[in-house]
Amino acid sequence: MSTTDNPTGTGLDFVRDLVRADNEAGTFGGRVQTRFPPEPNGYLHIGHAKAICIDYGVAAEFGGVCNLRYDDTNPDTEDIEFAGSIIDDLTWLGFPPGEPLYASDYFEQLYLWAEYLVTQGLAYVDDQDGETISAQRGGYGKPGIDSPYRQRTIAENLDLLRRMRAGEFADGARVLRAKIDMQDENMQLRDPVMYRIRRGHHWRTGDEWVIYPTYDWAHGQSDAIEGVTHSLCTLEFDSHRALYDWYLSHLELPGDQPRQTEFARLELTYTITSKRRLARLVQDRVVDGWDDPRMPTLRGVRRRGYPAAAIRAFCSYIGIARTNSRHSIELLESFIRRELNESALRRMAVLRPLKLVITNWPVDAAGKPVVEHHEVANNPENPDDGVRQVPFSKVVYIEHDDFMEVAPPKYFRLTPGREVRLRSAYLVTCTGCVKDDDGNVIEVQCTYDPSTSGGNAPDGRKVKSTMHWVSADHALDATVALYERLFSAEIPGEATGDPFDDLNPGSRELLTSCKVEPTLAETPLGGVVQFERLGYFAHDPVTPMLFHRTVGLRDEWANIQKRT
Ligand code: ATP
Ligand code: MG
Repeated sequence: MSTTDNPTGTGLDFVRDLVRADNEAGTFGGRVQTRFPPEPNGYLHIGHAKAICIDYGVAAEFGGVCNLRYDDTNPDTEDIEFAGSIIDDLTWLGFPPGEPLYASDYFEQLYLWAEYLVTQGLAYVDDQDGETISAQRGGYGKPGIDSPYRQRTIAENLDLLRRMRAGEFADGARVLRAKIDMQDENMQLRDPVMYRIRRGHHWRTGDEWVIYPTYDWAHGQSDAIEGVTHSLCTLEFDSHRALYDWYLSHLELPGDQPRQTEFARLELTYTITSKRRLARLVQDRVVDGWDDPRMPTLRGVRRRGYPAAAIRAFCSYIGIARTNSRHSIELLESFIRRELNESALRRMAVLRPLKLVITNWPVDAAGKPVVEHHEVANNPENPDDGVRQVPFSKVVYIEHDDFMEVAPPKYFRLTPGREVRLRSAYLVTCTGCVKDDDGNVIEVQCTYDPSTSGGNAPDGRKVKSTMHWVSADHALDATVALYERLFSAEIPGEATGDPFDDLNPGSRELLTSCKVEPTLAETPLGGVVQFERLGYFAHDPVTPMLFHRTVGLRDEWANIQKRT
C-alpha cells in the first residue's frame, strides 16, 4: 500500500514550529503574513483545501493575515469565471477572503526589477528557441551549455528587453533569462527564463503586455511586494526555493525578504487532483461539470453534501507532512460521516419501492382507510432536533429487497410468516404476496398488531428486523443518485500512466422512482439528511427532490483499520 495515515494529530507541525521560532527570534518583527496563490485556471479541489487550511490557519493562529492572490501570470488559460468561483469556494470552506490581490497588478514593478537585473549584468536576452534552451540546460551530471547570447552587453540587453516589451518581436522569438550559473547542480538555477513573448489577451490587463513573467520570476517578488513573511507552498517547489531566494536577494526590496517553505500535497486514493485532468473529465463529458458530485472539486463535494467543517477537521487531522503521501478516501469519508451523524436529520425514503398492504387495517366512517400519524425522532443523536409526525396508513412502500418470498437462512427481513417492525409504527406479519404475469412480486400482504403502536409489543416479544417505509398516499416522488468511486484504481493511472484508463463506468446510478416521506419537501436545497438505513443524502442545490448520496452509513475506515 502506498497510503499513509499517520497523523501528527496534535495541531503542531514543522510549519508552525518554524513560525514560532521566527517570532521568538524576531525575524519578521513578529509579523506573520501568508498568502493563498491559486492560478485562476480551474476550480479549487480538495487538495487546495489543505493548502487553504494551512495558509489561513497559520496566519490566524499567529495573529497575522493571509491574502488571496490570483497568480494570474498566464494569459492563455485564465478566466474571470474561475476567479469568481475561487472566492465562492473559499467562503464556503470557512475562509472568506478580503479584497483579492493580483499578480498582474505587479507587472510594471516586475518589469522594472527585470531592467534592474539587466543593468546589474544579472539578466540577458536570449534569441534561441525554447527547445534549444532546454536542451542546453543539461541534466543531473550533465553539464549545461552557455547560450551564445549570454555575453551580450548590458546596453544591448536593455535595448532588446525594451523592444520585447514594446512588441517589436514575434511570439517566442526571444526570452529574458537570469544570468546565474549554467553548471549549478540545481537545474532551476541554470539561467532560468524570466519573460517570454506571448500575445494573449489577459483577462485583466487586456493587450497591454506582450511579455509575461514566468511563475518563478513573479512569485517571490509578488510575495515581497505584499509583505508576505512565510510563503507556504507544495513540495514540488522545493527545488525552486534557491531561485526564489536568488531573485529576492539581488533586488532592492520594499521590506523583509519573504521565505518559502514547502509541505506535502494532499493526494487521496481513488481520486485525481490535477486541475488539468479534472478539466479533461469535464471536457470529455465523463462528468456533468465541475460541480458534478463525483468531482473532488470543492463545488463537487459541496453539492455531494460534504460539510465544510468536516473537510477542515480532516485537514487538521492529517496535519502537515514533509513527505508526499496518499491518504485513504475512507478516512476523509469517516470525517464526513461523523459530522453528518450529529447534524443530519433522519428521514425515511424508499429507493426501490414495493407496495406493502395491511389487510386488516381499519376503515373510517366513510369507508376509507384510517390515516394515523406516528411520532418519529428527528435525530436520536441530538434530542434538541425534536420529533416529527409521519403519516401511516393501509398501504406503505418498503424497499424491494426487504422482502423475499423464499428466504435463505440468514435473511431476517420480510418473508411469509415472519413478523418485523415498521420503524416507529407497528409490528406486521407477512401473509403472502401478489405477482404479475411474469412472476415478479408487485405487492406484499401483511396483517398488523394494533397493540404495537409505536413499534413495540406490550408482551415484550422481539423481532429481528426494523424496516423503513413511506405511506403510499402521502409519499412524494424523488430521484436519487447513488455514487461509487469515479476511478476504480486506488492510484488512478498507476498501471498505464493514464488515470482515464481506470475510470469506473458505473460511478453513478440514477433511481428515478423513489418514494420519500412528505417532510423532505421542507429540506432546504443543499441540505443534507440521513435516509434511515441507507446513508446520508444531499438535496440538490438547484433541482428540488433530487438527492445525492453523500456517503453510506458504514464506516469503511474503521474496517480498514481493523484489517491492518
Ligand atoms: P494543479 O497542479 O492541479 O494545476 P496547482 O498547484 O497548479 O494545481 P494552483 O492553483 O496554482 O494549483 O495552486 C494554488 C495553491 O494550492 C498552491 O500553493 C499549491 O501549492 C496548492 N495546492 C494545489 N494542489 C494541492 C494539493 N493537492 N495539495 C495541497 N496543496 C495544493
Ligand atoms: Mg500552479
